[in-house]
Amino acid sequence: MRVDILTIFPEMLRSPLEHSILKRARESGRLDVRLVDIREFSTDRHRTVDDMPYGGGAGMVMKPEPIFRSVEQIIADAGDAGPARIVLMTPQGEPFSQERARELAQEDHLALLCGRYEGVDERVREHLVPDGLSIGDYVLTGGELPALVVLDAVARLIPGVLGDEESPRHDSFTDDLLEHPQYTRPADFRGWTVPEILLSGHHEEVARWRRRQSLLRTLQRRPDLFRRHHLTEEELTLLGLERPRRRKGRPRDNA
Ligand code: SAM
Repeated sequence: MRVDILTIFPEMLRSPLEHSILKRARESGRLDVRLVDIREFSTDRHRTVDDMPYGGGAGMVMKPEPIFRSVEQIIADAGDAGPARIVLMTPQGEPFSQERARELAQEDHLALLCGRYEGVDERVREHLVPDGLSIGDYVLTGGELPALVVLDAVARLIPGVLGDEESPRHDSFTDDLLEHPQYTRPADFRGWTVPEILLSGHHEEVARWRRRQSLLRTLQRRPDLFRRHHLTEEELTLLGLERPRRRKGRPRDNA
């Protein structure tokens, strides 16, 4: 997958690309990240990328011309990666989620546009990049951290990027559930012991315990997710519950 990140602060993004999974994904050729400096697409001698807001008010707004030129260049230079799915990072965008990450991981070419200041001129959203993503209901100073969040969440879902042992299969938000608790050595740390079942070597029992824990903690911590999850018969049994029986026919009217 190719990912272009359009920003006026490309240096901010370099270091995270040089570590861990993002580094490995790039080195294996599964991920090709290109940092595009929007400032290089401004034509004046000061390389201006922002201006005062029409109508007055505090702060500056990112000018449309350098953004249009940089995006148009990406479209023109797509090459083998094909047309880019272009997304504007904005607190006003659709909330980013694991589901959206899975969907974006199917793309061959993604372009993430980072705003700064008070944001980008509205004509960018109206005529160039209607797709917007927000990483949460708070306002950051720029789109670079949100772009990295999206890149990281998407990259680990590209087939082959994570090894088998790191598989995202049981990660939180798969099937609308949170992941089960994890423990590692020592089995006894300051008198706090690891649940016996995890030391038993009974793989099926361990799997059942994990599923139950996953259900219980989702119910407790994220009832909104739990409501969306469709409980299987086995999961009902794990929770000691029964599926409510369907009533036959319609209840009779009170005469
Ligand atoms: N004035 C804008 C508003 O109230 O909607 C906020 C602009 S913010 C200071 C500057 C840039 O940071 C935005 O253009 C966007 O690219 C990025 N940004 C800030 N918070 C974000 C969030 N929660 N999700 C995605 N991008 C965000």
